[in-house]
Amino acid sequence: MSKRNGEAEPNGQDHGIKTQIRGFVAQAVSFGLTISPSDLASKICKETGIKDEKWAKYTSIEIINKVNSDLYRRTKKNERIVFIPHCLRNVKVCKATIGEEGYRCAKCGGCVIMSIVEECEKNEIKYFMVAGGSIVMKLIDKYQPKAVIGIACYNELKMALEKTSEKKLPTQIVMLSKDGCMNTEVELSEVKEKINE
Ligand code: SF4
Repeated sequence: MSKRNGEAEPNGQDHGIKTQIRGFVAQAVSFGLTISPSDLASKICKETGIKDEKWAKYTSIEIINKVNSDLYRRTKKNERIVFIPHCLRNVKVCKATIGEEGYRCAKCGGCVIMSIVEECEKNEIKYFMVAGGSIVMKLIDKYQPKAVIGIACYNELKMALEKTSEKKLPTQIVMLSKDGCMNTEVELSEVKEKINE
């Protein structure tokens, strides 16, 4: 199937780095987390020679994913919520409608969100397409999920994570490959992997 708007091009070099980081993170977390995720991320980056800020952020996100992974996997799929950022929409063609709980994708096929929504529906996972921030917490309070998948840029994720960890919600995160206010991108395979874990 051809790549949709908002879907990041698979990049072999990036995949190699991600696999390497995941390996280091898995090993470090298997010994138990004795320091904060950000300190551990700095330690891993130092030891592996990772200097690019993008990979430092990816490392700290992967640590959180790994720490939450067991609890997350134990939740039933229909007790999870996926938060999809509306900045992934293809605004030139988007036919999504907006309501109190964010946008509803009309599945026009104009962007990657249609594939994410279909994967959620196939797995009976509730999903919302929102801007992030306070609406995410309102929806969590209303629907009381047992676990959350968040797709967002690093800064949004950091803020949301503070809130979900206060609520002790095992959270899995997919960081946008290209962030910004619009025309953002995500790797669809990473989203599907989280949904299907
Ligand atoms: S309606 Fe759905 S698939 Fe179409 S552009 Fe909007 S969000 Fe994307």
